[in-house]
Order: sequence, then structure tokens, then C-alpha cells
Amino acid sequence: MGGSINTDLLLLFIDITKAKAFKHISQKNMASNNFPSQSHLLVIIIFITTLLTPITTNNTSPQPWNILSNDNFAGKLTSASSSVEAAAIDFGHVTKILPSAVLNPSSVQDIIDLIKLSFDSQSSFPIAARGHGHSFRGQAAAKDGVVVNMRSMVNEDRGIKVSRTGLYADVDTAWLWIEVLNKTLELGLTPVSWTDYLYLTIGGTLSNGGISGQTSRYGPQISNVLELDVITGKGEIATCSNDTNSDLFYAALGGLGQFGIITRARIKLELAPKRAKWLRFLYTDFSEFTRDQERLISETDGLHFLEGSVMLDHGPPDNWRSTYYPPSDHLRIVSMIKRYRVIYCLEVAKYYDETSQHSVNEEIEKLSESLNYVRGFVYEKDVTYIDFLNRVRTGELNLKSKGQWDVPHPWLNLFVPKSQISRFDYGVFKGIILRNNITTGPLLVYPMKRIMWNDQMSTAIPEEDVFYAVGFLRSAEFDNWEAYDKENMEVLKFCEDAKMDVIQYLPYHASQEGWVRHFGPMWNTFVERKYRYDPKMILSPGQNIFR
Ligand code: FAD
Repeated sequence: MGGSINTDLLLLFIDITKAKAFKHISQKNMASNNFPSQSHLLVIIIFITTLLTPITTNNTSPQPWNILSNDNFAGKLTSASSSVEAAAIDFGHVTKILPSAVLNPSSVQDIIDLIKLSFDSQSSFPIAARGHGHSFRGQAAAKDGVVVNMRSMVNEDRGIKVSRTGLYADVDTAWLWIEVLNKTLELGLTPVSWTDYLYLTIGGTLSNGGISGQTSRYGPQISNVLELDVITGKGEIATCSNDTNSDLFYAALGGLGQFGIITRARIKLELAPKRAKWLRFLYTDFSEFTRDQERLISETDGLHFLEGSVMLDHGPPDNWRSTYYPPSDHLRIVSMIKRYRVIYCLEVAKYYDETSQHSVNEEIEKLSESLNYVRGFVYEKDVTYIDFLNRVRTGELNLKSKGQWDVPHPWLNLFVPKSQISRFDYGVFKGIILRNNITTGPLLVYPMKRIMWNDQMSTAIPEEDVFYAVGFLRSAEFDNWEAYDKENMEVLKFCEDAKMDVIQYLPYHASQEGWVRHFGPMWNTFVERKYRYDPKMILSPGQNIFR
């Protein structure tokens, strides 16, 4: 960096200007909810920073296309069309955003070097970590920048260190959750909080939240992390936890990749159970269904997993996420769906091993008796722990074999406050979805408790003590995905008009106003953290939060 007395003064001036502007934003916000004027202030800050920052830096301006020859990245940075094309597409298959180059790092230092190069240059270039690319809207893309292919860091020999006494694992975040599970199970241990699908990277889910049927009992994955190593947008690496650099720790958890690239996570472990009793109960009445769900998640020592789904008249009751119901029962389930048009499925699991084997059946029996499902419509499976956690894999392989996996996925995921969930059922499941009659595939709806999240983390969640995760997990065709996307817009508009305070999970917002609304009272903190850790707005541009 070409620092001098003058540049130091300028840096000070920038900091003071930013601090004043933030103070102004906060005061304005307290006085009113005037979002456009807040955004204008943000633009002013960006403008001032952009104007002044170049004076403090080198005259060279490395860009992805002229750092390709940089010796530090020899053999690791590529602009080969096969690599950039692959990095341009994600699981959503509705965007194609080409980077200029892809970095295949072999060490954390490679990522530090790349970010430093961008940060120290006159006109920095965007950089995005790409885990397994299972985003839906180009969130892991870096238009005209560099995508860091995190998976190239995976090294079987050094990716995971388990502490049996500390009950935690230090894991390279490029690893998939299934890989972590397989390693920890070798030692009889397991992480406690999961996503439904395990072929996602640690870094990718920790950047969002990581939710599933375990969230009500254990909290999301981001609540089950003890420590992180994060490379900020300045190219500085820091170890952070609740006690050390706690602001960076909480910023990065659910931070949508905005504050740094997480390279290591210390994940909580428990003794692994051996098996799971996995049950489904069918309901025709939404309020009975949600009442039972809410009661079950309030019982602290109860189930290990609780989810729920909506079933519509679209052929056999199974879907790609799991084949579950015995074929001999398909007809009567379908005829119940036809009769009621929308029915609901409560899905729960209770883990057990040799020590609890004798009591688990009794507990399941008691549970069944206490629930208000339609009698005769209860289904039970007894599976190994790993088969339970990895239950979505069979569906994935099945779709892959039919060429139906790499298709457009116009998914929509929401957090709906408990007080609004009946209106949501009436207006969306029984309203928009039935009327349009295009949605197929899993429709998830299950509650979680706010107390299991930490307010300092970056994921935006509703204010109420209990809120529902709702997921529309659709598969579409390349020529019809926009119809589903239109339906997503219709659902969001319905929620907005009804003032339901619904928040997107795995969010996508086309405008900054959308992001300001998304984060609500957290927005100022989010912006302040961005300036603190990534002042040149280098990281994760595909989230479209800062332009
Ligand atoms: P990517 O798509 O590669 O990246 C996502 C974002 O994280 C990008 O902004 C990227 O820049 C950033 N990022 C990636 N790695 C890092 C890192 N190391 N440090 C900082 N930022 C980083 N989510 C749930 O919560 N629960 C579920 O049950 C669930 N099921 C899913 C099932 C399927 C089939 C799919 C496709 C997705 C599912 N998801 C679920 C969503 C998933 O958790 C997110 O899309 C997640 O981001 C995917 O991880 P990834 O490794 O593919 O991330």
C-alpha cells in the first residue's frame, strides 16, 4: 500500500465521514421509517469512499484477466471456459452469471492472497466463495470477478480434527455435511443440527442458517458453532468466537458471505445415536396440525426432529425428497387428499440406541395417543441414524438417473410468524396454490423457536417467539419456470398486502429497498459490519445487497 501522512489523514477523514453518516442514518431511522432516504445516504457513503479510497492505494489495478499470470496463482487461477461456465450456474438454473476467472485454491493462503490483491488494488474486483453451488439465484456468483471454488481445498488428510473430550470438530468449511457426518460417526460422534439434504458445504449453510427438523430442539446450524476462521474483505484472517472478535463471529454466521470467507468452523458434537423411529401422521385440519406441532416443540425433552408438509392432489403421495408411504396405502391417502383438497403431514423422529431401546416404543405409543391426526393414518419406519439424516439422497439419485435434477428450481423459502400461519394457510396453500394449480413437489411447513437463535447473528428472523419455516421446493422445466416464479411473487405480494411480516430465508431481493425491508432493524448493523469487514464491497456480490 502506498501510505503517507496525507493518505493517513484521508483515511481518518473517510472514517469520520462514515461514522457521521451512520449516526445520521440511525437518528433518521429512529425518527421515521423512510427507507429511500436511508438508501440515499448509503449511496453517498459509497460515493465518498469510492472517490477517496484510490488515493490511498497502489497505482496498479490488477483485474482477474491480468492476474492470471501472477505467479502466486500459477495453475490455480483459470479462465478456461469450462471452469467459468460451471461457476456461472447454480442449483436454481435460472441465472447464468459469468465470472472472469475461477480460483482453485489449495490453501487458505491462496484465498488471502487473492482478496488482498483485490483490496489493495485501485479498482478492486469482486470475489465470491462457491461451496457446492446449491444456491438458487446466483448468490455464489461473481460477475466479471473471481469465483473461489472452495471444494478444491478438500483434503481427506487434513480437513477435520475431532476433539472427543471437547465434543467438537474443527472442519474445513469446503467439506460437505455428509463428509463430516461420515468422519464423526467413525468415532461414535455426530453434529446435532442438520439440513434436510447433506450435500451442502459447511461454509454455504453457515452463511445462511442451516435449518431442518432439528432446529426446534437444537437451534439452526449457526447456533451450534463454537469458533470460526474468517478471511475478511481486507484479506485479513481472524479467529473469532463468542469471546474473541465476537462481532465478526456473529456477523459471519448467517452473513450471506458479506463479511468474509469462512475457512474453518468448530462444530459442536454429541454422542451419535444408532437408530431413529421416524413417523408421519396425516391431518385434514390445519389448526389441529399446527397446535400439535407447537405443543411438541414446546416439550424440551421430547422429539429430536419435527417437520411438516402440505399434500396436494398431484398423484402418488410421495415426492422426490422421500419415498415413504407403503404403496398399498397410496389409494386411500390420495382419496383423502381428493376429498379435502389440502391435507397436512406431521413428520417426527425419535433417536435411540441400546440404552433407550426398551423405552422408545412406549414413548412413541404415548406420543401417537396424544396427537389429533386422522386415526388410521399414521406411518412408522425404523431406520439407522445415518439413513434417517441422509434420507433425501435416494430421491436425488433417482431424479439424477432420470435427468430431472439439473433443472430450474424456482424455490421460495419463508419464515412466517406464528400469529400469521393460519392466514397463510388460508390465503396461500388453500388460496393461491390451489387456484393456480401448478405447484408440485415438496411444500414444507414447520415451526421453530426464536430462543434457539442468537440476535447478534446476521440471519433475519421474525420477532415472534415461534415462527414457521415454509418451503416451496419446486422443480420446473426450462420453458416454464417463470410461471412458478410469478407464483412466488404472488405469494410475497399476498403476505406484504396482508402485513404479515414474513421474511425470506435463503433470500433473494431484486432491489436494495427489498434488503432494507428484509433486515428491518438489523439493517444498520449489517451495513456497519460491511464497512468494517469488507469496505470495498468485494465479497459475495451475487447476493445483490451492495452494488
Ligand atoms: P453456495 O451456493 O456455494 O454458496 C451460498 C452463499 O454462501 C454464497 O453467497 C457464497 O458466496 C457463500 N459462501 C459459500 N461458502 C462460503 C464460505 N466458506 N464462507 C463465506 N461464504 C460462503 N438449506 C437449509 O437451511 N435447510 C435445508 O434443509 C436445505 N435443503 C436444501 C436442499 C437442496 C436440494 C438444496 C439445493 C439446498 C438446500 N438448502 C437448505 C439451501 C442451502 O443450505 C443453501 O443454498 C446453501 O447456501 C448451499 O450451500 P452451498 O455449499 O451449495 O453454498
